[in-house]
This record gives sequence, C-alpha cells and structure tokens, in this order.
Amino acid sequence: MNNETPERNIPAPPVNAENQRYFDATAQGTLLIGHCKDCRQFHFYPRTLCPFCFSERTEWVPAAGTGTIYSYSTSHRGVPIPYTIAYVTLDEGVSMMTNLVDCEIERLSPGQRVKVVFKAAEGGSNIPMFTPI
Ligand SMILES: [Zn+2]
Repeated sequence: MNNETPERNIPAPPVNAENQRYFDATAQGTLLIGHCKDCRQFHFYPRTLCPFCFSERTEWVPAAGTGTIYSYSTSHRGVPIPYTIAYVTLDEGVSMMTNLVDCEIERLSPGQRVKVVFKAAEGGSNIPMFTPI
C-alpha cells in the first residue's frame, strides 16, 4: 500500500552560517546532532556552545535516525493538505520538532517508533521528517 503523503510545498529553511553544515548533511541524507566533548551529552539543534555546560568543544555527529513519537498534532483546517507536527525523541535522547509523513494519521500514537526520511523543500534543501517504522 502506498502511504506517501500528498505533495505539500515545504518552505525553504532559514539557512545561515551556523546551520549551513546541518543542511549540507541533510542534502546528503544524514541527520546531524550536536555532541559535547566535555559533558558528553547530545543536543539539538547543533550549535557552537553546548547548551548544558557552555563548552565550545562541541562536534556534529550523525544520528541513527530512529526514535519515538513524544507528541503530535495534526492540522486539518485552513490547509489544503493536512500535516502533522510532532516532537520526536531520537534514540540519542534529544528531542526535535518535526513532521510525521507517509503514514495514516489515524494510526499514529505517542511512543510509536519512527525513522527519519528527507523531504525536499523549496530552495533545494532537504528537511528531516519522520515516518513510522
Ligand atoms: Zn557540554
């Protein structure tokens, strides 16, 4: 069965100097998260300073790309194609706000296992979204 989400125009993300590398990676099909070499915690979005200990010794590492749905909300009204915004907790322990795609909305539930898929946005960037495993 084909669960592909109907095509929806995805606005181009605000690419800037700090997140350029992140979107370069998503273009290659890799989801990067931040990792601190001092306190060893992961964080998202990746950034220059660790949000936990303010260390500058941060690095970008590829995430496994799997996680669980923490919560989600589907917009039906006022949009041509319904879409689902969610918080997904990656297996590395960080949460990210994202979209759930290529799925039957009625069958989603918190705690469900998901994996990353990359969707083309306007302007040529790829946006990481998630679909049930
Ligand atoms: Zn740290």
